[in-house]
Amino acid sequence: MKFTDMGLSPELLQGIARLKFEHPTPVQTAVIPAILNHKRDLVALAQTGTGKTAAFGLPILQMLSRDIKTPQALILCPTRELCMQIARDLEHFAAALRGVRILAVYGGADIRPQLTAMARGVDIVVATPGRMHDMLRRRRADFSRIQRVVLDEADEMLNMGFEEDLKAILSEVPDTAQTLLFSATMPKQVAAITRKYMKNPEEITVGTRNAGADNVRHEYAVVHARDRYPALKRLADCYPDMYGIVFCRTRQETQDIADRLGRDGYNAESLHGDLTQQQRDRVMKKFRAREITMLVATDVAARGLDVDDLTHIINYSLPDELGSYTHRSGRTGRAGKNGVSIALINMREHYKVKHIEKTLGRTFVQRSVPTGVEICEAQLLALMKRLGEVSPEPGLIDDILPLLCKNLEGVSREDLLRRFASLELHRMLDYYGKEPDLNVEPLSQPGKRTGRSRGTGDGDMIELVVNLGKRNGLSPKKLMNLINASDRTSSVDIGRINISQMQTYFNVPSASAQGVIDSFAKKPCEFDGRSVSVARAGTGDPAKREQKRAARRKGGPGKRGAGHAKSAR
Ligand code: ADP
Ligand code: MG
Repeated sequence: MKFTDMGLSPELLQGIARLKFEHPTPVQTAVIPAILNHKRDLVALAQTGTGKTAAFGLPILQMLSRDIKTPQALILCPTRELCMQIARDLEHFAAALRGVRILAVYGGADIRPQLTAMARGVDIVVATPGRMHDMLRRRRADFSRIQRVVLDEADEMLNMGFEEDLKAILSEVPDTAQTLLFSATMPKQVAAITRKYMKNPEEITVGTRNAGADNVRHEYAVVHARDRYPALKRLADCYPDMYGIVFCRTRQETQDIADRLGRDGYNAESLHGDLTQQQRDRVMKKFRAREITMLVATDVAARGLDVDDLTHIINYSLPDELGSYTHRSGRTGRAGKNGVSIALINMREHYKVKHIEKTLGRTFVQRSVPTGVEICEAQLLALMKRLGEVSPEPGLIDDILPLLCKNLEGVSREDLLRRFASLELHRMLDYYGKEPDLNVEPLSQPGKRTGRSRGTGDGDMIELVVNLGKRNGLSPKKLMNLINASDRTSSVDIGRINISQMQTYFNVPSASAQGVIDSFAKKPCEFDGRSVSVARAGTGDPAKREQKRAARRKGGPGKRGAGHAKSAR
C-alpha cells in the first residue's frame, strides 16, 4: 500500500512528502484506512517507533470540518514532551493545509496562554490528562463537538496515575465520538478502559504484543552491583560515537549518575521529574543538538521522546515494570535504523532478563563488559577514523609543515602513528592498563559455563563479604590466611578481593562458598578484636548481622549452638 492509495488529500500528501516519508509503516497501513472508512472505535497495539502519530494524525487532519469553531479532536498523551512533540508532528503533516489550529495543553507551564488560545478557537487539542482536566473543571474548554479522541500511550498514562483524570475528561466528550486507543502493551488496566469507554472496538495488532522493536539487539552484561558505574563508563568509552539514553530507576540515581559522568568528562546530563520545565527543555534541546550525547533519564521523563538515530539504550538498572523495558529499548532502532539495548545486571538479576525474554518473546545475548584492551582498541580505531576523515584547513599548517617534517625526519609512518596515538590516548591507556576485568557470571545458571574465569579455572564464582576492612588492617594475604585457618579440611581458591574501609568482598568458587560461610559460623574467630562474620554479598549489612549475632550471644550461648548445629553439614 502507498500513501497515495489511502484516500488522503493532496495537501496531506504534500506534507508527508516534505517529511520524506516514502512508504506507510505497517501500523499506518492498518490504521489510516480504518479511521477514514468507518467510525468504529479502535484499539491498536504497536511497538514504539512504528509511526503511530501519523497513523492517527493524518486521518484526524483529513476529517476536520471547516465550520466548527470548538475542538473536533482530542489527543491525550502522558507527558509534556510527548504532547509538544505530537503537536509539532501534526503541524508538519498539516503544513500545506490552511488554517488548522492545533493547541498543546500541558502542565508545568503557565495555564493562561493556553486558556487564551483555547478561547480563540482550536481544531485539535493535544493534552496531558492532568492539565486538561484542570481546564475542564474551570469550564474553559468546550468538548461538545469532539468527534475523535485518541488515547496515545494509554498504558503509560495509567501507569502514571492519570486514571481519574482520564475518566473525568472522557465523560465530557459526546458519546458519539470515536475513541482510538494506542498502546505498546495491554495490561489489565488498559483492557478495563477499553471495556468501559469503548464500544465494540476493532483490535489491530501490529507485530507481536509486547514485542520490542525488531531492529533492536538486546544484550546484557553481568557485573557486581558496585561495578555498575565503571561498567557504564567502559561502554561509553568503547563506543566513542555513542548517542544514547541511560535509564535509571529513581530520580536520585539518575542525578547521581549524570553528575558522576559529568565529573568524569562525559557529555551527560539528567532528565527527571525534579527538574523544572525550563531545565528539562534546555536538556532536551542540548540532547537533540548532540551537545549532550548521554541522556541519563527516568522512565517517566523519557516517555515517548522522539529522538531518532540513538545508537544505544543503556539499562543502568532494569525497570520494575516489565512494560517499561519495551518503552526504553523502543527509543532506539527507530525508523528502520539499528540499535542496541544493553542491560547491566548483577549476579542475582538474571531471572529478570529471563522474565523479560519470556514476556517479550525476544532473546537477550550475554555480552561482556569491554576490557581495557578492547576499549583502547576501539578508541584507537575511532581516532584513526577521525584522522582519515579530517580535511585540514589550508593556511597556517601548510606554512609550518616543512618545519614539522624536519622535526620528525626519519620517523617511520608506523612509529608516527604509534606516537600520535599514545599522545592522544595516554590517559585512556594509562587508566585501562591497570583496571581489572569486571565480568562475572550470573548465579543459578546450572550447566552454563562461558569460561570467563577469574584465574581459578572455574567461571562460577560467588561473592562473599567479611566484616573486616582496611580499618582493621586486613590485607589480601591476611584474608587468605584467615580463610585457610578457619577451614583446615580443604584449601579454597580465592578470586578477586576488594577491600574497603569497613568490609571486604571476595570471590570463591561457588562449590566452596557455603563451606567457607559455615566454617566461620561453626568456629567463631576474632581479627583485630572483632568477631569475624562472613556471608554472601548482597544479603544485608554484615556489620548489622554481626550486631545481631552479638545480641544473640548475650542471650545465652545455648541458643547460638543450636542455631549453628542446623547449618552444619
Ligand atoms: P510511535 O508513536 O509509534 O512511537 P512516531 O509516530 O513517533 O512513533 O514515529 C517514529 C519516527 O518514525 C518519527 O521520527 C517519524 O517521523 C518517523 N516516521 C513515521 N512514519 C514514517 C514513515 N511512513 N516513513 C518514514 N518515517 C516515518
Ligand atoms: Mg508515539
